[in-house]
Amino acid sequence: MTATAGGPPQERRVVTAIPGPKSQELQARRGAAVAGGVGSVLPVFTKRAGGGVIEDVDGNCLIDFGSGIAVTSVGSSAEAVVRRASAQLADFTHTCFMVTPYEGYVEVCEELAKLTPGDHAKKSALFNSGAEAVENAVKIARAYTKRQAVVVFDHGYHGRTNLTMALTAKNMPYKHSFGPFAPEVYRVPVAYPYRWLTGAENCAEEASAQVIDMISKQVGAENVAAIVIEPVLGEGGFIEPAKGFLPAIARFAKDNGIVFVADEIQSGFCRTGQWFACEDEGVVPDLITTAKGIAGGLPLAAVTGRAEIMDAAHAGGLGGTYGGNPVACAAALGAIETMKELDLNARAQRIEEVMKGRLSAMQEKYDIIGDVRGRGAMIAIELVKPGVAAAGGSAPAPNPEATAALAKACHAEGLLVLTCGTYGNVLRFLPPLVIGEDLLNEGLDILEGALAAL
Ligand SMILES: *Cc1c(COP(=O)(O)O)cnc(C)c1O
Repeated sequence: MTATAGGPPQERRVVTAIPGPKSQELQARRGAAVAGGVGSVLPVFTKRAGGGVIEDVDGNCLIDFGSGIAVTSVGSSAEAVVRRASAQLADFTHTCFMVTPYEGYVEVCEELAKLTPGDHAKKSALFNSGAEAVENAVKIARAYTKRQAVVVFDHGYHGRTNLTMALTAKNMPYKHSFGPFAPEVYRVPVAYPYRWLTGAENCAEEASAQVIDMISKQVGAENVAAIVIEPVLGEGGFIEPAKGFLPAIARFAKDNGIVFVADEIQSGFCRTGQWFACEDEGVVPDLITTAKGIAGGLPLAAVTGRAEIMDAAHAGGLGGTYGGNPVACAAALGAIETMKELDLNARAQRIEEVMKGRLSAMQEKYDIIGDVRGRGAMIAIELVKPGVAAAGGSAPAPNPEATAALAKACHAEGLLVLTCGTYGNVLRFLPPLVIGEDLLNEGLDILEGALAAL
């Protein structure tokens, strides 16, 4: 496998305390120079990264179950990404596509048209970040429908800009003290099976009925420009909406002339074992937003969708200085090439098989694991307080303290894991899809040890 251009050896190595002395020195410098509002999960400073490993400045090699938040699915130094981006760097770094265009941008849009669900005519526009893509999807939907309202969901996450803060559900840390927020945003329930009040069985049916009722009664379907949803909710806790919910909402959107936007920024590009998570239920979105995994670590994002919707914005109405930067486009073409050549959808499916097998066995042994869920290499465990009732539903109360303690114990052993969830009680696993199976199992061994010690 020639997936990695350079990067560290593919093994775990813990040679100092984590973080080590050099990282601590850098962290002190950072404290004086970097704004306090910018956090870090684990303040070890990176020297090299690739495959399934992050090497820090103290010589520790961590197993990577985070992929820089679902970005480096092809690894952090994928051969095709490095080769294509380096060649592009040497040719030119920037012209601004809105000034003089270049082929790479067009090629990425052609790939997006082929890879996204549906065989209708599609067009794309490229941006720098996921939030920017979501904002532009809303702009495009409003221009097309000539309506203003946007419907989003409980536990949804769409970014940190002003409009996307309004679209995001969770106050802390994303919104607190940063208002006022953009108007015409309406939030409705999502079919969260594990915590649905009347249980998982009726979740899809009841949740979709509630959503449709709320939109019809409180907003008016004829006022809604877009419904924006993550097919698997990411920051909100790796929630897979109960089967049947997404198709019901997509159907309602279609029947009422509402643009259905799938935010696949975290779930897209092979992460869930398919090119896009909405394929799982055969849902064909009108617009789809992508970023994170698209470009092997370089900043790139896109809105892709029905040509007639994408063309609704007036000429010159969309864009930005750096959107679709040539180096980022070259990297995206390298990442897509890698996904195809190494069949990373199959890899993600295999990761799911290994992870779910082992995590389910851990759930049998440790009753603080309330739920094991997710798809492909987007897998999570929800941690609970057994026997302690939650405010609603049959699931026990969330256990954010155990979640934080487990993450900390894993970090100390050289396994990088991330937490998420509205209640801060979800441990999520997002390994690069190119991680070796030995490292994957070693990471799970560490997690199991941390559970046993808790
Ligand atoms: C990360 C994320 C975003 C925001 O992307 P940025 O590149 O951080 O702006 C939007 N939607 C989803 C689903 C995400 O996971």
